[in-house]
Amino acid sequence: MKTLRITRSFERTRQIADFVPVKAACEVSVELSEEELNAIPYGAGETSDERAREMFSEKLDIFVRAEVEKTLMGYKPVCVRCGGTEGSFGKGGLTKEGLCQNCNTEIGYQARDHAADVGRNSETPARGTKGRSAT
Ligand SMILES: [Zn+2]
Repeated sequence: MKTLRITRSFERTRQIADFVPVKAACEVSVELSEEELNAIPYGAGETSDERAREMFSEKLDIFVRAEVEKTLMGYKPVCVRCGGTEGSFGKGGLTKEGLCQNCNTEIGYQARDHAADVGRNSETPARGTKGRSAT
């Protein structure tokens, strides 16, 4: 039994934040039986296969593209640390590390505290630095 299979696929990557790409892909196919193919009216100089491809290709194309766009548009950026979405962290958006403004600020404080600790603990200046010499 002869069948004709028409497949269309579409794939797109959307950059949610600087380093947060989201890829969506969709594939769809139709399979027409010989009976269905025979039912398709086709003109002179073309076969029922060609006519069927022409009829379905564009529709399938539009369908897969729309599905991909729907998926990408529905994707909300999520903070990689607290999992908050735009609703919970406000309109500030995510940093390029994928952090919301709250987490970015918190981590900033922690980093500064840590740097302060390191500063306190290192009594000896690093080699090559010109410290004030005791006279
Ligand atoms: Zn966060």
